[in-house]
Amino acid sequence: MTTLTITNTTLCDKGHTPHKESISVVAHNFDDADYYTFCEVCENNIEMFSYYDDDCGVRYSKWSVSK
Ligand SMILES: [Zn+2]
Repeated sequence: MTTLTITNTTLCDKGHTPHKESISVVAHNFDDADYYTFCEVCENNIEMFSYYDDDCGVRYSKWSVSK
């Protein structure tokens, strides 16, 4: 339903709430991994990734809806 999708997207415009119990991790190497779960609020599948930053060490992206 299009209307429902728009409402839920608005709910999560400051960031999604990951369902921590169902996070799955795909590690590429020591400091590079992808994280997958779903959002408790909008129930979309969401993902984030970690990457290495020379100044700050391992950084994490924001959760975003999986494509
Ligand atoms: Zn959400």
